[in-house]
Amino acid sequence: MTCKEAEQMVMPYINDELTDKELEAFLDHVYSCKSCYEELEIYYTLYAGLAQLDGENEGQDMHNLLQEALYASDQRVRGRKLFNIYYVFSQVLAMAALTAMIVTEILKL
Ligand SMILES: [Zn+2]
Repeated sequence: MTCKEAEQMVMPYINDELTDKELEAFLDHVYSCKSCYEELEIYYTLYAGLAQLDGENEGQDMHNLLQEALYASDQRVRGRKLFNIYYVFSQVLAMAALTAMIVTEILKL
């Protein structure tokens, strides 16, 4: 992902509008690109500050807000990935078990 693409995803990220795939690519970029991370930090802090004016997020530490949000996003991406791996693995196991049963039946004949 280029910095331009990452910049365009800052607002959708804050509004929680990214798909899991986009979110993963966005996180990868933000973690490895200092200028985009800082850009996100500015927008996020600004947005969180505005929300605070509305009475949301009251009493929360502004500096930790982005880190907490990024951590939650990370968990979401990782959790989904683990689930997919588990799903594929269980499908493969089921197929293997079925194949083994069929082979055993054939060998009996
Ligand atoms: Zn960048």
